[in-house]
Amino acid sequence: MSNIKLNQIDSYPQELLNISIEELHSLFPGPTLLHLQGKRPEPVFVSVLLHGNESTGLHVIQELLKKYQDLDLPRSISILLANTQAARYRKRSLGGQPDYNRVWPGTIKPNVQEAIIMQEVVDEMANRNVFASIDIHNNTGLNPHYACINKLENRFLQLAVLFGPTIVYFLRPKGVQSMAFSKLCPAVTLECGRPGNPDGTNHALEYVNAVLHMQAISNKPVLPQDIRLFHTVARIRVPKNVTFSYTDQSAAILFQRDLYKMNFTEIPADTCFGIVHPNNNARLLAFNDSDEELGEKLFYIDKKKIKLRKPMMPAMLTLDEAIIRQDCLCYLMERLPYTN
Ligand SMILES: [Zn+2]
Repeated sequence: MSNIKLNQIDSYPQELLNISIEELHSLFPGPTLLHLQGKRPEPVFVSVLLHGNESTGLHVIQELLKKYQDLDLPRSISILLANTQAARYRKRSLGGQPDYNRVWPGTIKPNVQEAIIMQEVVDEMANRNVFASIDIHNNTGLNPHYACINKLENRFLQLAVLFGPTIVYFLRPKGVQSMAFSKLCPAVTLECGRPGNPDGTNHALEYVNAVLHMQAISNKPVLPQDIRLFHTVARIRVPKNVTFSYTDQSAAILFQRDLYKMNFTEIPADTCFGIVHPNNNARLLAFNDSDEELGEKLFYIDKKKIKLRKPMMPAMLTLDEAIIRQDCLCYLMERLPYTN
């Protein structure tokens, strides 16, 4: 796939409206940027399927296109259908592909073909005077719907709070879409719960439609009572050479079976994350925004139990062992004091 190119179009085949996520690649074998004109020219940019298994974004686009099939769009929209090849197999990304949400300008891998394509997308949207950027995702744990931002500015907070009160601010990992677009316009990443859940589709559809109708994004402060703002303290990973499981007693780390229920719950110090196999010194790694490893500062081992040193709030805890290996076990967050 190293010879992939960006496909840019300004109309779409009718099949797009109902095609399945697995078949989408038959219409668009590579990343495709669809531009549609609306009454206000500066477009909203919406990216979907940066992660091929996260189907909500495609469903949102299909419902939106159906809604406006015979109506003028209130504002132009540009839609990126990103990793259609991974979507074919309902995978986050395929072997040999980079993660499509780590290759945007600012990435640590600027020379891969996918990074060159994403740079082209950003340049194109800059030329078109992009109004706002929305990147639609799913996750696998029990998480509320929430928006992520990469700048603590009023217009970013206003765009995020329109999706809901829970907002996460982060600066790592590098190379994510919303961070690249934050240089051009207010930008959010939407986390819409699990793939295939109609609540996530309806919520994100209403949201995109609301943004299309906005004349401007307010620069007024968001009221403190309307917002629960968190920032990521660390991304928690399992060392590459350490085995883990939720069920297999012989794994080096046996995670607590109900860990995934703690997402977006403030959990106390000394909470147990898992049991370490007696014959090894397995541990969890924690990386902060500067990529410093803080595992020892956040966790300690007490009678073979991995415990948390201080109160924290996890997000994105998942039971999916492939995601834990590829991406991370979870993020640990703290509340950011917010006053305006
Ligand atoms: Zn994702």
